[in-house]
Amino acid sequence: MSELALPTVRGQILRGESLAPFTWFRVGGPAEALFIPADEDDLSEFLRALPQEIPVTVLGVGSNVIVRDGGVPGVVIRLAGRQWAQIVTDFDSVDAPEARVIAGAGALDSMVAKAAAKAGVAGLEFFAGIPGTIGGALTMNAGCYGAETKDVLEAAWGFDRSGEMRTFSVEDMGFTYRHSAFDGEIIWMQAVFKGRRDTPEAVQARMNEITARREGSQPIREKTGGSTFKNPELENGEKLSAWKLVDEAGMRGYKRGGAQVSEKHANFLINTGDATAADIEGLGEDVRAAVKAKHGVELNWEIKRIGRA
Ligand SMILES: Cc1cc2nc3c(=O)[nH]c(=O)nc-3n(C[C@H](O)[C@H](O)[C@H](O)COP(=O)(O)OP(=O)(O)OC[C@H]3O[C@@H](n4cnc5c(N)ncnc54)[C@H](O)[C@@H]3O)c2cc1C
Repeated sequence: MSELALPTVRGQILRGESLAPFTWFRVGGPAEALFIPADEDDLSEFLRALPQEIPVTVLGVGSNVIVRDGGVPGVVIRLAGRQWAQIVTDFDSVDAPEARVIAGAGALDSMVAKAAAKAGVAGLEFFAGIPGTIGGALTMNAGCYGAETKDVLEAAWGFDRSGEMRTFSVEDMGFTYRHSAFDGEIIWMQAVFKGRRDTPEAVQARMNEITARREGSQPIREKTGGSTFKNPELENGEKLSAWKLVDEAGMRGYKRGGAQVSEKHANFLINTGDATAADIEGLGEDVRAAVKAKHGVELNWEIKRIGRA
């Protein structure tokens, strides 16, 4: 196969780099080309010059993806480095009842929660429980314990595939449960979040509660991808828990190759050490089939599966 012809950049382009180390599952093949832009101008110039037929995929910290074993064709973009992770808090008047936080798409959600707590901004505590980046949160409408990105986002901006900067209000984002309308269409750069004023101590205390709750209920130190399936909603509006359905179908602890359904949380899959992406995705399909057979309910993947098998 001939090497992909790519525009000249100031950042880094790595050919055939394994993506496994950049994901929580630690599995998957290489990127045909992995681009780490130097800055926003480098990225927008690259996108402008890149032929439209070359696919572009963005990776955050890979906490919600399975990269398939055959790797990802085209260009994978990673926003690695401090310039993508800037967080600004102190620009609203302290007397204002509302306060804003601006965060780069490469900032970890947990760092945004910490910065908000330090500045006495309440409402973003739930970000302490999500191990991804702001770019991932905008794509997934990430959330936990009753709050989600759509509740606190004011606006976000990023580049479209042709390198044009575009800005969207929260209403434009088409957020539904673990979904946004722009999935794969915009490369997010920054977002502005809105919170309420509170004391840093009170915000920190609520964050600590969330962290402790997660420690007790999720296998957060494993090679995993978080919740595998979305919680299904039936036609009559009834909401079901994916983990309960998996558990009742007898799949807790079930194994395929090096992949296993977590004993701690039945909606989490784990790479026990030597799993392939095919093991993990195949295990997920086994679980879906078991739940369908037991309950007649179709589970939909929350984890993104990217690349070729
Ligand atoms: C232990 C564990 C616990 C978790 N708990 C939760 C939870 O409670 N709630 C929850 O919602 N999620 C949870 N997750 C899932 C995950 O952390 C979130 O979905 C997170 O938002 C993904 O962010 P990421 O940076 O890892 O994105 P990735 O996994 O790298 O990518 C996810 C998607 O976002 C896109 N993306 C990432 N960055 C950008 C960008 N800058 N521009 C455009 N697209 C981008 C990718 O293309 C991909 O489609 C958990 C995961 C783990 C491993």
